[in-house]
Amino acid sequence: MGYLEPIESVEGRRRFRVLSPVDGHEVGTFAVSTAADVKAAVAKARAAQPAWDATPVRERVAVVLRAVEILRKNADAYSDRMYAETGRAGLDTLMIELFAALDSMNFYARNAERVLADKTPGMHLLRMKKARIAYRPLGVVGVISPWNGPFILSLNPSVQALLAGNTVLIKPSEVTPFSGQLVAELFAEAGLPDGVLQVLLGDGETGGALLDAGLDKIAFTGSVRTGRKVGEACGRNLIPCTLELGGKDAMVVCADADLERAAGGGVFGAMMNAGQFCSSTERVYVEAPVAEEFIAKVVSKVKELQIGRDIGPFISSAQVAIVEAHVQDAVAKGAKVLAGGQREGNAFQATVLVDVTHDMDVMTEETFGPVIPIMVVKDLEEGIRMANDSQFGLGASVWTKDKAKGDRIARRLIAGAVMVNESSMTYGALEMPFGGRKASGVGRVNGADALQNWCHALPIITDRFGSKEEAVWYPYTPEKTQKLRKALDVIWGTPLRLFIK
Ligand code: NAD
Repeated sequence: MGYLEPIESVEGRRRFRVLSPVDGHEVGTFAVSTAADVKAAVAKARAAQPAWDATPVRERVAVVLRAVEILRKNADAYSDRMYAETGRAGLDTLMIELFAALDSMNFYARNAERVLADKTPGMHLLRMKKARIAYRPLGVVGVISPWNGPFILSLNPSVQALLAGNTVLIKPSEVTPFSGQLVAELFAEAGLPDGVLQVLLGDGETGGALLDAGLDKIAFTGSVRTGRKVGEACGRNLIPCTLELGGKDAMVVCADADLERAAGGGVFGAMMNAGQFCSSTERVYVEAPVAEEFIAKVVSKVKELQIGRDIGPFISSAQVAIVEAHVQDAVAKGAKVLAGGQREGNAFQATVLVDVTHDMDVMTEETFGPVIPIMVVKDLEEGIRMANDSQFGLGASVWTKDKAKGDRIARRLIAGAVMVNESSMTYGALEMPFGGRKASGVGRVNGADALQNWCHALPIITDRFGSKEEAVWYPYTPEKTQKLRKALDVIWGTPLRLFIK
């Protein structure tokens, strides 16, 4: 069953019906925004931007904090509306969408005035000048989001951009359009002025139109394939972008790990959101001496998981075929299924695979499903080598009771972020920069100073003393040349240079 059905076009706009992944009931219909719609929305956002820029940061913060209150009070209603088009199980919506959204809004709002305030670096050499850095909004920015975290991945970059004084256009995934639309509803209720945040529903047609619509930055979250197109367009248009793309996170389990915690963390990391998580635990390397015990613990935990209660259906109907193909490819090449392994309606059973190799798609391509493939390695060196043998580099984890060793291994793993004895933490740790290496992406979102990434850091250099002229201004004379030559030796040829920093 597809969850997205094309229906009759109206006024030149293609339309879709969105169906529930759980029981196929109609959730709603929407029309695909055309290039003309995108152009009109950009014009509206451009017109609204100067007034929003002129709105003091404190007032922007107040809007965001009102949104926190509205979302908290109406958490169940928001959750129900997200559930309608995602069909997620158990805690997933609460944890991934609501908790994360409240935290993002509160964190960035609370830090906005400090982060966006002018900075006054002392000048290391030109002390007669006053220097300030002002954080000026970029203008009109686009947020293109995927279906696996449709509310938070639309909201988090948008909140940052709004606080920084930009006006924002969100293009949510066509698979989960209404969760993206909820962001605009939330902020409208919180009192955001008209035109400051707009949502454009649609698919690649709308996203593609946005790329060439004269925006000032694009924050893209989605697949590597689309990410390349976004990167190319931003390169062509010479605008900045962040690309948050796919992952194949490795988990390295050392012989001295707490195996109970490692097994629990691995299973949660692999199965949460039915594995539809960019930083999902997608492959495990366990040292031989503890492999048997670790695998037994993982299998026992996975066998307790139930479809419906713990594992929801796939949010995108296309995903079940990908996961099934990865498991079948692995089995055909010699992998053994120790739990699960089968499709169940629109879901896939929580699955444990062993005897896997890097010749299998399940170890090299993003599976994005509830599958935990485990490879036994002879020692740690082999584990680190295998973990780094990937086209992706979003996240990774290492499990050991020796924290100093965990730290050393973390530095050798080629990944955007590494966890030690932790699972699925990185996107939610808002004070840390988040982003991938290799094919997992370009640029960083989040981090203590993330709001500055939505600004042009404008240096303003002002003369302090008002003398009539500077030592090197015209006309050039032999005296001026001599003075400058002498200064060169005094500054860098004497101990004075030690104080210049
Ligand atoms: P996708 O690339 O298919 O779609 C993402 C968005 O791009 C959608 O809104 C889509 O409509 C739009 N789009 C499609 N074609 C476009 C085009 N030509 N120009 C502009 N926009 C276009 O990705 P998806 O399947 O929705 O999302 C799943 C992927 O997202 C997975 O690979 C996952 O790992 C990744 N992801 C990454 C992160 C991260 O932070 N690194 C977070 C979540 C998801």
